[in-house]
Amino acid sequence: MKKLFVLLTLAALFLNAGASLAEMPEWTYPLAPEILEDIPGYLVLTNRSVLLGADFEPNDLVPITARHINAIHGDMLRKVVNEAVNVMFAAAEEEDVKLYLKSVYRSYSTQKTMYNNRLAKVGHDDGVVAYPGSSDHQTGLGMDILNYEWTKKSGMTPAFSETREAQWMAEHCAEFGFVIRYEEDKQDLTGIIYEPWHLRYVGLEAAQYMKERHLCLEEFDAEWRQYIQDWEAAGGNFKQLLRDRAAPDPASVMFVTEDGEEEISLFSGS
Ligand SMILES: [Zn+2]
Repeated sequence: MKKLFVLLTLAALFLNAGASLAEMPEWTYPLAPEILEDIPGYLVLTNRSVLLGADFEPNDLVPITARHINAIHGDMLRKVVNEAVNVMFAAAEEEDVKLYLKSVYRSYSTQKTMYNNRLAKVGHDDGVVAYPGSSDHQTGLGMDILNYEWTKKSGMTPAFSETREAQWMAEHCAEFGFVIRYEEDKQDLTGIIYEPWHLRYVGLEAAQYMKERHLCLEEFDAEWRQYIQDWEAAGGNFKQLLRDRAAPDPASVMFVTEDGEEEISLFSGS
């Protein structure tokens, strides 16, 4: 026999400005506003025109635990990303696809040193090393993943895309919250050559959406910002929407069962 608890959320009647949701235009973007609010910072964009500051450093970096090549002490990724990499590697291995982490988080100062070393070596910015502040690796969400064969090579080329491992990642990485950050047909937008080995964590919903629509991060970022701008121009208020969605609906009661919760409206048609 299931126990039923009925909780009347009367307090919400006084706390919630119940009418504000109805006054706003309908939210029709395919992703929930909370995904775009992006409190965890999974959608952070960096490129040559959107630079991260020298002080941008994720506060939840952890030492990497997935299979890696020549991991240097101090190799880190953001916590949720490290976990997602492990889950993805395990899923890949079930299909005899063995993946190896290579480059992971890189601080601004490491990137700056690499950039200056490259400048000193070739005499000009040849695009091989990302400009300080523009590297996706500084987010703690970007990483390079190879197969065993390519760990033996001195550098990476788009030919990596012909490997079974790269093809597996392209097909499945979104199931784990990742996208191929630098796609072949998006080079004009990303400013970076095709890098089938560079994966970027954006979270499950965003990754699946970006894959479905074949959007690079630059396009996705511009698209959802434009949507919010248009939606607010039509009378919406994004911050208010988030507050309304976080507050309990005053016209409902919560039935809590042993299996979980479900919210049922008291007033039909309200
Ligand atoms: Zn990379």
